[in-house]
Amino acid sequence: MPLYDIKSLCHACGRFHDILVRVQLARNFEVRAVSDALQEGTLSPSEIATITEVDCPNTGQSIPTKPDQMVLVAVQDINRSH
Ligand SMILES: [Zn+2]
Repeated sequence: MPLYDIKSLCHACGRFHDILVRVQLARNFEVRAVSDALQEGTLSPSEIATITEVDCPNTGQSIPTKPDQMVLVAVQDINRSH
């Protein structure tokens, strides 16, 4: 099953930061908003229940996360040649 990194938009610096959480989903896509994936049932709320904040490396702050500000990004297949 495809593996996805979860990244969150940081309202302190305006960039996406990696939350260091990976999930496996039955569906295949490159990027999708977490809120969309929850709505369509691709992602279950329990899989992101522990994600409440992300550390901002640019400001040193802990930023609260929201589903509509998080995205799922497909992890590139490490076996694929570049
Ligand atoms: Zn930031």
